[in-house]
Amino acid sequence: MTQQTQIIVAGGGIGGLSAAVALARAGRTVRIVEQASEFRAIGYGIQLGPNAHHAFRHLGIEQEILDRCSLPEAGVLANAVTGETLLRLPMGEEMRRRYGQPYAVIHRPDLHEVLIEACRREGVELITDCELRSFEDTGSLVRVDTSKGTLEASALVAADGIWSKSRTALVGPETPERLGYVAFRAVRPMSEIPAHLAKNEVKLWCGPSCHMIHYPLHGGTIFNLVIGFDYRYNAEAEAGMSYKERILKRFEGACEDVRGLLPYLDFSRFWEIATITPISTWSKGRVTLLGDSAHAMVQAMAQGACQAIEDALVLAECVSTADEDYAAAFREFNSRRLVRATRVQYMSRFMWELIHVRGAYVDLRQSMLSRFRDSDTLEMLSWLYDEHAAGLGRKELPHIARAG
Ligand SMILES: Cc1cc2nc3c(=O)[nH]c(=O)nc-3n(C[C@H](O)[C@H](O)[C@H](O)COP(=O)(O)OP(=O)(O)OC[C@H]3O[C@@H](n4cnc5c(N)ncnc54)[C@H](O)[C@@H]3O)c2cc1C
Repeated sequence: MTQQTQIIVAGGGIGGLSAAVALARAGRTVRIVEQASEFRAIGYGIQLGPNAHHAFRHLGIEQEILDRCSLPEAGVLANAVTGETLLRLPMGEEMRRRYGQPYAVIHRPDLHEVLIEACRREGVELITDCELRSFEDTGSLVRVDTSKGTLEASALVAADGIWSKSRTALVGPETPERLGYVAFRAVRPMSEIPAHLAKNEVKLWCGPSCHMIHYPLHGGTIFNLVIGFDYRYNAEAEAGMSYKERILKRFEGACEDVRGLLPYLDFSRFWEIATITPISTWSKGRVTLLGDSAHAMVQAMAQGACQAIEDALVLAECVSTADEDYAAAFREFNSRRLVRATRVQYMSRFMWELIHVRGAYVDLRQSMLSRFRDSDTLEMLSWLYDEHAAGLGRKELPHIARAG
């Protein structure tokens, strides 16, 4: 495999697949190398804010995605102990009217399927079982050493996730920070869930050092449930207890609705929550990071994937403007995206803290949030959801159709 391509994308997650679609639409030949044996997503839900749908529109896949989405009527932040609503974000028609796109939730495999199908349509070469091991930018090309041999390309887009090897190689060792939280998830048939909890909304319950979030998928036929739990809190007193036992104990003081959902969780698998401290340099020469490898964030604003999708569009805009000068294109990409992604990382971390407060901070949170009306909440997010604030679509992609 020494045949040259214009761009190698390392990593076939949401970021890498979106970047491949965008770059191919800008007329580049693209090859994705994915270390896993198939291009596959874990079978849980993901939230896609209006900013992601703006990007999908420019990538020509807006409708295909929306056809597989559910559109919740509201996002509700509630106190997990008292059951009180703290904040309500209108998501239905009001969101679409204000931002031109809806707030949607989708089953991750469905999103992957659309992205992979779009890659195939655009002629992207998809290679599995192919791990990027190292790379060398010679100044005139990038040589990529993979588990399937050496590949060459004019440029490398490293979308290899939060534990990115490429980031270490490009900007030095930066170990992601483990936040001391683990997440447990579940998807269950909606018919199993008590009817009064099966509402068409994204509900986030804020608890002391824990949270729960749930929303319906697939037109309301599936219930997606996630909890986050701080394993550092009370660790000494709870030594010897399993995560499951500790979670049930942590949620003992929660309101009935929250406690009623705990039996539906899948305790067989969990995710360690980690993030990276924002970095300024994502690109050097003919190599750039993208998505979580550049700006992994906590999921408190449900934006990690949305930011990767925005990256993909902006990257393709920069590449199509800079012609064959990839170093210039990547410098521009880095500069156009840096402040925005850093802001989302920062705000996500702030929200993460706010969601999990204890003691007197709970009263502070209540007093801070209770003053906002639904319309205020909708407006407060204009910096995030508005297409122009997101810096998207400054240049239409030419969409150069590829033969074959
Ligand atoms: C519990 C939870 C809930 C979340 N909810 C949301 C949400 O609602 N909305 C939202 O927008 N975001 C959400 N996120 C964040 C979102 O999942 C990530 O930000 C997003 O998936 C990042 O995509 P990515 O393509 O950059 O990285 P990844 O999804 O990590 O993909 C990286 C890919 O690269 C491959 N890879 C890694 N190393 C190599 C290598 N050396 N060679 C080749 N391939 C390699 C991996 O196998 C993988 O396929 C959530 C995250 C968590 C943990």
